[in-house]
Amino acid sequence: MKDKIRKIAVIGTGFVGMSFAYAMLCDGGCDEMVLVDIDEKKAAGEAMDLNHGLAFARENMKIYAGGYADCADADVAVLAAGVSQKPGEDRRALLSRNIEVFRAILLPLLSCGFNGILLAATNPVDVMSRAAWKLSGFDKKRVLGTGTALDSARLRYLLGEKFSVDPKNVHAYVIGEHGDSELCPWSQAYVSTKAVIDILKDRPQEEQEAIFALSKEVSGAAMRVIEAKKATYYGIGLALLRIVKAILSDEKSILTVSTLLQGEYGEEDVFVGVPAVITKDGVREVVSLSLTPQETQQFHLSCETLRQLGRSVGL
Ligand code: NAD
Repeated sequence: MKDKIRKIAVIGTGFVGMSFAYAMLCDGGCDEMVLVDIDEKKAAGEAMDLNHGLAFARENMKIYAGGYADCADADVAVLAAGVSQKPGEDRRALLSRNIEVFRAILLPLLSCGFNGILLAATNPVDVMSRAAWKLSGFDKKRVLGTGTALDSARLRYLLGEKFSVDPKNVHAYVIGEHGDSELCPWSQAYVSTKAVIDILKDRPQEEQEAIFALSKEVSGAAMRVIEAKKATYYGIGLALLRIVKAILSDEKSILTVSTLLQGEYGEEDVFVGVPAVITKDGVREVVSLSLTPQETQQFHLSCETLRQLGRSVGL
């Protein structure tokens, strides 16, 4: 008999929130999932639709649409609510409106006594994670964002394709901003236990260039999906699932999430994507990669981009 039920609150039942919820239903591993959205009718419809698949699911679970009071005892609140860009709206204005969305969510969520872990997916995810941390007043360990988890998965997939191996056997990270200034530290990329840089030594120049060009392919991936189908959601849904499971099962897995740096990598006071150990309490510690001087410089630039974006909205 379990002591406590494993409960997830999904706040924002759009493409991203529901891709996660559907993945959670298919994979199992929680006992209860509450869906919250400002559009209550949509949340209710989504709950019905998921429940109609329960008979085929791996495990039984309770799924329902609810309010913030229903989230009070959740282990993790997945923050996937957001507003979309208005025509002509700049990045800063969109960010300000999304911060207002988080304020509208976090005030009632906290006043209901929610004491779990906040996991943000809303973009720009690094600054939104910082907003969640500031608005909640929670310890930094308990507030994280999806960061470069999806970007790292994209890199691993592409490397897996190039070397014809399972992406699970590719150990490579994308770090920095989840966005244009992110970087792939090639010095830290491995296939099994072989460094990608060593594998490439004997390969023709074109092949080396094709591999290093994958970092551009990763940073442009979201735009290409958006051009083709207007939004990205399955990949991020699975990234959220991976992080939530690491929390629920106290896995101590290393995942590239957005977390607050306070001295690590020589950086201060910035939420940014880095590998970190994820436990039931959230982020236990940041894993410091041995970056080359050039990678370090690129990482600092990415952090500075995020700091400036945060400052532009008073964060
Ligand atoms: P969507 O428009 O489909 O869904 C957003 C949902 O938020 C809507 O259902 C809306 O009603 C709800 N919402 C808005 N204001 C709310 C409020 N105050 N309270 C509760 N709910 C509210 O958007 P989406 O495609 O699901 O994307 C959601 C966010 O995830 C966006 O910011 C998007 O950019 C981001 N995203 C992040 C990544 C990543 O890697 N981190 C990847 C893809 C998308």
